[in-house]
Amino acid sequence: MDKNELGPMPPMKILLWRGWRKKCPHCGKGDLYKGWLKLHEHCPECGLRYLTNEGDLLGALFFLDRALFLIPFIVLFYFHIWHPNMVLFIISGVVMLYLLVFTMPNRNGMTLAFDYYIRRSNDDISEDDFKVPEKK
Ligand SMILES: [Zn+2]
Repeated sequence: MDKNELGPMPPMKILLWRGWRKKCPHCGKGDLYKGWLKLHEHCPECGLRYLTNEGDLLGALFFLDRALFLIPFIVLFYFHIWHPNMVLFIISGVVMLYLLVFTMPNRNGMTLAFDYYIRRSNDDISEDDFKVPEKK
């Protein structure tokens, strides 16, 4: 499959938005997950294989987690930039934990969209990555 058959590469913000909404980065229609965090192997709409290698996602996901959560947390508290009182401290801790857990599928989806971007940029998506969509 050459570039023309795949259509134009969507802009990065569209890809990331599709990922955040837990949709296929290629078509934007198919769901990424069967359940809460269990990935479909292929997009139910366009047939794109989401991951060629499950491990591909981990590096980027850890990076994203560090960039979005851990580093701001460390900067705020370790370097004493922010001096909350105990109530505010506990509330913000709970909010951070909540976000960390409940945005996991969204962050995972964004990472997958980023992985798709890298695969497209490297011409690393071929016919083998598409197959007849699974019947719903
Ligand atoms: Zn798709």
